[in-house]
Amino acid sequence: MKRRVSIFGATGSIGCNTVDLIQRAPDDYDVVALSGGRNVQKLAEQARALRPEIAVTAYEDCLAPLREALAGSGIEVAAGETALRDMAERPADWIMSAIVGAAGLSPGLKALEQGTTLALANKESLVTAGALLKSTAAASGATILPVDSEHSAVFQALAGEKLSAVERVIITASGGAFRDWPIGNLANATLAEASSHPNWEMGQRITIDSATMFNKALELIETHEFFDIAPDKIEALVHPESLVHALVGYRDGALMTHVGPHDMRHAIGYALHWPIRAHLPVERLDLAEIGQLTFQKPDEARYPALAQARWVMEEGGLAGAVFNGAKERALDGFISGQIGFLDMAAVVADVIEIMSGEGLGLAAITLETVKDADHSARARADEAITRRQR
Ligand code: NDP
Repeated sequence: MKRRVSIFGATGSIGCNTVDLIQRAPDDYDVVALSGGRNVQKLAEQARALRPEIAVTAYEDCLAPLREALAGSGIEVAAGETALRDMAERPADWIMSAIVGAAGLSPGLKALEQGTTLALANKESLVTAGALLKSTAAASGATILPVDSEHSAVFQALAGEKLSAVERVIITASGGAFRDWPIGNLANATLAEASSHPNWEMGQRITIDSATMFNKALELIETHEFFDIAPDKIEALVHPESLVHALVGYRDGALMTHVGPHDMRHAIGYALHWPIRAHLPVERLDLAEIGQLTFQKPDEARYPALAQARWVMEEGGLAGAVFNGAKERALDGFISGQIGFLDMAAVVADVIEIMSGEGLGLAAITLETVKDADHSARARADEAITRRQR
């Protein structure tokens, strides 16, 4: 029987890799729905190839061009936040959550309510509302599978083991675009320089987040939330080759790891076929050719985001929503040229300082409280950006 699948964020980097895997086995899948944002032409092209019931753009002003691009195809079109949530209610066996940013939370939650299998690339969902995601999945019987390469690696290294035997989880980091830059040059790093990753082809936002290590900070929190691992057992390790994705250390001293090429179709394919390990069209590594794998402790002065992630994990509650909201606004500020590269971490630090006395750790986590915390953090980040512009 064909599996019914939907893809949120189909036009992005993760989305296109997911489409690639599905297109290779068209007889195995019925595509229910695809979503995109502003890249209407890509969404229409994917829809014509995969024949979903509906194609949804996140933006109302993109509806008319999407309708025009799909005219005569018989594929329904819709736009906006409500349409995305309606899309998540359409019955599907497997749903990819690959919208970028906090906007991915609400459709992901709706998808979980229908008891589906959610392949979660949108790390911001777990960072901002991990407890809510998990309780929603538990109530409906849904399964959440990790798609981030590090978390897919941890998931695989934990298979068949007891969590009580885990001593530590190490997630690796490439070090991003400025790994080898003198720290004194970082203040002048440009948008183009920060948007170029040494190893991975990814969306612009996550690529810049790799350069600041905000991406790794989100992943430390994601590890804590997804696997219920205590913050003091989770470490980041710089691994410039990006081939070892994560390691799980057990109490007998063993380190179990996942080694694979820089190709997100590995982790996406694992989640698509889980619990079966299927053939995947990824490079087979020649370790003799690679020769050596190197590791370094991250320099916390270069990457303040790592200490901020520890604050989030210790604080709990709405701290993740505040951290992510401030980080997203600071990133917008860097992309639009309002602030410099190093200002991003400084803006987030300002917001944490202002909001850390507000009892974030004790607050209940609902979609509304998370949205409010996100909103307040963005407003505070806005003010911090204005102060830095003066
Ligand atoms: P991209 O920026 O490449 O794609 C993002 C997708 O979300 C696009 O389809 C985009 O549409 C859509 N989108 C953008 N804004 C909104 C919005 N406000 N509402 C609804 N849809 C929106 O991102 P990536 O694919 O790189 O990343 C997606 C998620 O996966 C992120 O959470 C990222 O952290 C995570 N991730 C990514 C990895 C990677 O290798 N890229 C690795 C691991 C995790 P459009 O482009 O049409 O405007």
